[in-house]
Formats: sequence, structure tokens, C-alpha cells
Amino acid sequence: MNQLQPRATRALITGGAGFIGSHLSEYLLDQGQEVHVVDDLSTGSIENIDGLRGRAGFGHTIADVREEPLLAELVDRADVVYHLAAAVGVRLIVENPVRTIETNIGCTEVVLKMANKKRKKVVIASTSEVYGKNDAVPFQEDHDLVMGPTSKARWSYACSKAIDEFLALAYQRARGLPVVIARLFNTVGPRQTGRYGMVLPTFVRQALMGQPITVFGDGNQSRCFSYVGEVVKALAALAECPEAVGQVVNVGGREEITIAGLAELVKKLTGSTSAIVKVPYDQAYEEGFEDMARRLPDVSKLERLVGFSPAMDIGAIVESVVADFRER
Ligand code: UDP
Repeated sequence: MNQLQPRATRALITGGAGFIGSHLSEYLLDQGQEVHVVDDLSTGSIENIDGLRGRAGFGHTIADVREEPLLAELVDRADVVYHLAAAVGVRLIVENPVRTIETNIGCTEVVLKMANKKRKKVVIASTSEVYGKNDAVPFQEDHDLVMGPTSKARWSYACSKAIDEFLALAYQRARGLPVVIARLFNTVGPRQTGRYGMVLPTFVRQALMGQPITVFGDGNQSRCFSYVGEVVKALAALAECPEAVGQVVNVGGREEITIAGLAELVKKLTGSTSAIVKVPYDQAYEEGFEDMARRLPDVSKLERLVGFSPAMDIGAIVESVVADFRER
């Protein structure tokens, strides 16, 4: 190797065989970085990283992040840790709240502990879910978090991720560990599965199979979807941004669409004859389920820090997901 050439950055990605993690792995490899993935394949899948397995600089370990000796070794070999391993998807959370809480808090505890021992930077993937029922849109990072009661399983996800954020910021303040927290807003794109309740892959699968497209509630709730390729670029940029250390940063798109509007768009772009049906929340999730009416990020902090925010329009995003389903 040319001695003047700097060594490639080595990234450890927990949850790297998941939807976002696999795109991040691919992006970092394309940037000339080395990538090691640790994933227990609980919701991730080996197919997600199949295309990366032969690539120079790529490695993976199938294991639970909470295996401390293993994680210590992997963290030791990395320059930066992207912590994406978590229980995600509203369906999974409602159906398996114990796993959600234990995975989300337990994994983050171990990652931060090991990163602190080895003094390695950590980028934590958090979620817009932490804003909860706050209706002061667009959400800014220092807005209040408004949770529902503990009797409703949905809020366990938001609370577990909020604890992760508190812990990461505590490590940063009390121990000087460099951490960055990215709150991701409805990230979508190729390879995302609808198995855990995510709306876009669910709608696209329903439309392509001629099944009813299931809009939960009245369909007037809205979201801002962002393209995974842009989201992972933002995560990588945040990892390299010194001013982002100790910060919580929204990562999402600005374009708002209602879920009923999304159903119409998916139907149009697939040329589907599927009916669009409304399903009450009680039936879709559980008795008394609470949804967020609007969820919009204020992305000015992200733009100030890294110079861009996800901007792909929803039509192009849906097209990319449809093309991916057709290929599979
Ligand atoms: N949703 C829907 N039909 C589905 C799945 C989800 O109408 O088959 C709705 C869900 O109730 C929510 C929105 O789509 O209002 C986004 O859901 P998702 O689980 O993708 O993400 P969330 O924003 O809830 O984290």
C-alpha cells in the first residue's frame, strides 16, 4: 500500500442486515470505507447483504449485539459505530412489546458501553416516533416529547428510543463520548419489508397482487417519506461532521402526503385495479390504538450541519419501490 494514502475508515454497523443498515453498508463501501455488519437476523435478512458479501472491505457476523465480548472486539476494530440494531415496525411493537423494550434499550446500553471503553464515535439511529403525539409540526429537535399512557404498547417504542437518546447524551456529557443521534422519519425504499407493518411496502405488495389496499383510520393522517439512499448519505455525513457531536438531528423529507393520498398514488403508479379500503385502527392494531395525525420534520439543523436533506419526491420514491417488488 502507498504509505501516503490514508487508511480507509472502518465502520461497524449494528443491524447492518436490516433495510436501512444494508443500504448504509453499500453506500459506505462505495465511498471506499471498510464495513463490518453485526446482525442477529431477527428482522434483518441475509438476502439484504447478499450483494455485498463478496466485496473487498466487507465482513459480517451473525450475532446479537448484546454478546459483550464479541461486540467489544468488533468495536475495537472500528473507527465509527453506526447503531441501527433495534426492534422496529409498529406491528412488531404492538405484538411483541417485551422484545421491543429489551432489544432497544439492551442493545444501546452495550454499544455505548463498548464504544466508551474504546473511545469510538457512535451514530445512533433514533426515530421520529419519539415526538409522539406532539402536534406542533414541523418537529424541531428540542420540542417536547408527548407520549400516550403506558397501557398502550405503541408508546413503548418511543419511550425505549427516548431512553437510548438520554443514555447516549449522558455518555457524551458525562464521559466525553462522541455521539450523534439521528431521528429518522419514515424511511422507505427498495428491500423494505411490509412484514412489520410499514405502510409503503404493504401498499405496493397489495396493489401488485390485486388485493385491497388497506388504509388504517380515515386516511387523513400524514407522513413525510424519505428515500433510504438519501437517508444513509445523511447518516454518513453526520458521522463525519464534528459539529454534529452531542446533537440530536432530524433526518427526513419535507414533502407531506396523507396515507389516503399515498394509497391513490400507489394504485395509480402500479396501474392496479385494487380497491382502497378503510380499516379501523382497533382492527388493524389493537383496541384503543393511537396514531399520529401529522409527522413532519424541521430539517434545517441537518441542512446547516451537512448541507443537504432528503429531497426525492414521493412519486419517484414509490416508483423505486414498485420496480424493486417487480424485480423480486
Ligand atoms: N398504515 C396504513 N395501512 C397499512 C400500514 C400502515 O394505513 O397497511 C398507516 C399507519 O396507521 C400510519 C401510516 O400508515 O398512520 C404509517 O405507518 P408506518 O407503520 O409505515 O409508520 P409510522 O409512521 O406509523 O411509524
